[in-house]
Amino acid sequence: MNLHGIERAPEERVNWKTSFPFLLLHALVLLSFVTGVTPTAIAIFLVLFWGRMFFITAGYHRYFSHRSYKLGRGMQFVMAFGGGMAAQKGALWWASHHRNHHRYSDTELDLHSPQKGFWWSHVGWILCDKNNAWDEDGIRDFAKFPELRFLTKHDWIPPWTAGVAAYLIGGWSGLVFGFLGSTVLLWHSTFFINSLAHVMGRRRYATTDTSRNSALLAVLTMGEGWHNNHHYYQASCRQGFYWWEWDPSYYVIRVLGFVGLAKDIKEPPLRVKTAARVRDGQFDMGMFKNYWAKAGAALHNVRLHHRSDDETAALADADPELATRREELEELIARNRAALAEHVAHAMAAAEELGRLTRRQERQAGVVD
Ligand SMILES: [Zn+2]
Ligand SMILES: [Zn+2]
Repeated sequence: MNLHGIERAPEERVNWKTSFPFLLLHALVLLSFVTGVTPTAIAIFLVLFWGRMFFITAGYHRYFSHRSYKLGRGMQFVMAFGGGMAAQKGALWWASHHRNHHRYSDTELDLHSPQKGFWWSHVGWILCDKNNAWDEDGIRDFAKFPELRFLTKHDWIPPWTAGVAAYLIGGWSGLVFGFLGSTVLLWHSTFFINSLAHVMGRRRYATTDTSRNSALLAVLTMGEGWHNNHHYYQASCRQGFYWWEWDPSYYVIRVLGFVGLAKDIKEPPLRVKTAARVRDGQFDMGMFKNYWAKAGAALHNVRLHHRSDDETAALADADPELATRREELEELIARNRAALAEHVAHAMAAAEELGRLTRRQERQAGVVD
């Protein structure tokens, strides 16, 4: 049981056997002390880190997961192959899981829900068996392309291509520091968006999740740090909503648009940018739900004094009257906690439904786009 009182199902526990290559790769980077770090290896590191970061953010995320701009079939393949080089499985796997994260943000169905703790949202969800398969229904629009299915099925091909190329160009140092080193940093930078970007930074928009905006994460991930902006308005290709919000993935996509390789690049409309702001007093449902879950867990934990049966019996013997009173209180807390949880859940569901209806009504009335 973790801090929030959530029990881990067996398929949510780390599978050390299948996770071994992932963990081993971290350790292998230390071989840099043996191979040394050549200037060529540093160049390979930088090219592979920023290059693959772009393919993940612009390709796997903004294109395949969110369709926030359009590409031709050739460029689509380039994005899928480039993202594949980051060793984060195939585009169809990645995007179908990411769509699930948005559909069920911060709920039990969110496959890397930050409500299940930092470790789980960072890597726990990848190291267990639960999320090995990808959901075809969630990504039918891209699953129809045989080349994308091929790359997702044989997801080892792109990273091995990158690894072999790094070795041919930079020797052992190129492979160990240039390729493996940048791969590990790339992994954790990407994972930070699932973990840190839901706990560190500021919330501009009231959303039903805990997403935040962080300039630091935006620098590290070529613009993905504006995660609250993104959860609030996923349709936008641009995640830094203002000129001062560093978003190089978007700038590069704009260049692709300029030379005719990308089109229909979506921007956040002004009306969207200035609505639903926390500072204007919008009810911040996501944070309320988060605090509520913590408060519920705290009440739950009051009752959790991990004592053995013998110890409990000894306590009851020592003062039977006190033991009875304790039992009464525990029962009272449990009963009220359950009733409270139910009432709040109803109120929250009604509030979310009201929000949806209001938006639909606004669209019908033509007040918004
Ligand atoms: Zn997203
Ligand atoms: Zn998120």
